[in-house]
Amino acid sequence: MTTPDAPGSDTPALRFVVHQHDATAMHYDFRLEAEDAVLKSWAVPKGPSMSPADRRLAMRTSDHQLSYIDFEGVLDGEGAGPVIVWDEGTYDNRTHAKRDKTELIPLADGVDHGHISFTLHGHKLEGGFSLTRTAKEPRERWIMIKRRDESADSDGPPVVTHRKSVQSGRTIEEVAAQG
Ligand code: MN
Repeated sequence: MTTPDAPGSDTPALRFVVHQHDATAMHYDFRLEAEDAVLKSWAVPKGPSMSPADRRLAMRTSDHQLSYIDFEGVLDGEGAGPVIVWDEGTYDNRTHAKRDKTELIPLADGVDHGHISFTLHGHKLEGGFSLTRTAKEPRERWIMIKRRDESADSDGPPVVTHRKSVQSGRTIEEVAAQG
């Protein structure tokens, strides 16, 4: 059991990735490394926004192994299609206990409870975000919202203005063509 990452602590930073994935439909798989080295995952059809005015639907998907975080290429089988590392970086968990707002709880506990808050340090995504569960059945539906902070902006969705992989510089169309 590790403690949640805190500024100035010696805890290694937890990582996040956003995979752009063109399967049956284009979507963005948002994945946060949890304390037990699994990637908590959501499929965001429209992709993350930097505008606090946007509420992005995020469908919970299965946990992935941490080793998947750097994957870029063409998947076959279930979810077949090209994948790029659209954004990656580290994050600070800011998820608090419901009863005691001064107490940080592990990200995985927040996911179980249906609400998490975190600060991203990526190439494209920066600053505070929250994810809140709005339905459990038939599949978990969550809403992803950008917090109002100095990093917020409404200049247009980064999935439109910043399309290339932060790993290879390739677009998803180039990965689809090249493998
Ligand atoms: Mn996917």
